[in-house]
Amino acid sequence: MFELQHTDHPIVQRPRITVVGVGYLGATHAVCMAKLGFDVLGVDVDEAKIAELRSGRVPFFEPGLPEQLGEMLATGRLTFTTDLDEAARFGDVHFICVGTPQAEGSDAADLTFVDAAFDALVRRIDRKALLVGKSTVPVGTAERLTRMIAGRSPIGDELELAWNPEFLREGFAVEDTLHPDRLVFGVASEWAAGQLRALYRPLLERGTPLVVTDLATAELVKVAANSFLATKISYINAMAEVCEATGADVNRLAEALAFDDRIGGRFLKPGLGFGGGCLPKDIRAFMHRADELGVGQAVEFLREVDDINTRRRVRTVDLIRESAGGDLRGARVAALGAAFKPNSDDVRDAPALDVARMLYLEGAEVRIYDPEANENAHRAYPDLEFADSMDEALQDADVVALLTEWDEFTDADPEAVGARVGARRIVDGRDALDADAYRAAGWEVRALGRPGRRARVPARS
Ligand code: NAD
Repeated sequence: MFELQHTDHPIVQRPRITVVGVGYLGATHAVCMAKLGFDVLGVDVDEAKIAELRSGRVPFFEPGLPEQLGEMLATGRLTFTTDLDEAARFGDVHFICVGTPQAEGSDAADLTFVDAAFDALVRRIDRKALLVGKSTVPVGTAERLTRMIAGRSPIGDELELAWNPEFLREGFAVEDTLHPDRLVFGVASEWAAGQLRALYRPLLERGTPLVVTDLATAELVKVAANSFLATKISYINAMAEVCEATGADVNRLAEALAFDDRIGGRFLKPGLGFGGGCLPKDIRAFMHRADELGVGQAVEFLREVDDINTRRRVRTVDLIRESAGGDLRGARVAALGAAFKPNSDDVRDAPALDVARMLYLEGAEVRIYDPEANENAHRAYPDLEFADSMDEALQDADVVALLTEWDEFTDADPEAVGARVGARRIVDGRDALDADAYRAAGWEVRALGRPGRRARVPARS
């Protein structure tokens, strides 16, 4: 059992909260903390983002969040600023939610934003307070920051650090924040643990499981969880590769595996694989950090997990090329989806967009449509062509590629879709369509890990 330092500092039962970095994670956290009844100040260096949030607009797509933001602004409990001096004065507890993207030219996490945010706050806070890291960071970061705080804070070790990793899923962010599967507190003192307990009391009273642990374990929980999820996705996608070579059907295989309680069906969904602002960069940063620590071999399997995931993108392009008759030059492809998953406008490392980019580079005329992510995708890839509606993307297409499984796409009527296109050929990159219904409507359907027309089990020699 790890030992917690004992101090006699009183716990602030209704602490004032700052949330530093109000992107996908921070904006949601700030709104939800206000929802729990706290006074919250959201802080960001991005003035445009703060102006939007102040005026009640969420700068990204997250179902339910705009309504909650409006409600919380109206209570007066939630405000936003770019002024760090104000934040330092305001908060009893400061949550740090800034980004930790993949570093340029390396697998490592870029900790520039974390270091800058901590440095700026630490120098300004002049009364007892708790800094709480929420960003996903390599194990050992909190220990380094603890030393930094002790060296730079005007109040020395009165300023404490805790780590409270976040597991929310984009698309379900509000629900996940208010009803998490578990809470994890990485702490060094009884006071920090007590302060976090007071803060999350409404959730704890509801029976939310709590793990109180040391800082390093708390940091690791998040990357370990993401590594596990990524592995499960790549596992079934590896099975899809085997299915493709044998004529077996990976969907039936996944269904049969899922009935085993020890395995379970969640994240056992074959398709184009994972992407987004977390899983890919988190597993890479984990491998990098493990290497630094001399235990790289322990997580070397994550390299294969990453490679399997990348191969799904290439394989999807292969299927689209095959559907187009073997040559993508001049082929009109309707790319349905750009976001890394439905119910999000996040295009960071999005498989859908990567596939569209590869098709474009091979000379296809790609028209992309995503219900929410067109704008972000266009910003990331200004050369690609975007349609304003699904119908516009489909118009006269030689091949349709389902790349993000939005309801708008999976609920579409194969007949109605067929009436738009030039040829009834579809590649289901997400194994999300009713292939029988499409075939019945005269479509040629190709899907990852499902038997194609020519698939068969080769005889053993
Ligand atoms: P994001 O890029 O959407 O938001 C980061 C925000 O931090 C931006 O608004 C940026 O302007 C701001 N920022 C940068 N430097 C700052 C500074 N010095 N002071 C104040 N603000 C600053 O990123 P995100 O998706 O919200 O992710 C943030 C962290 O949370 C990452 O470590 C990520 O891995 C982790 N996380 C994200 C999710 C998710 O679903 N997005 C879930 C769990 C954990």
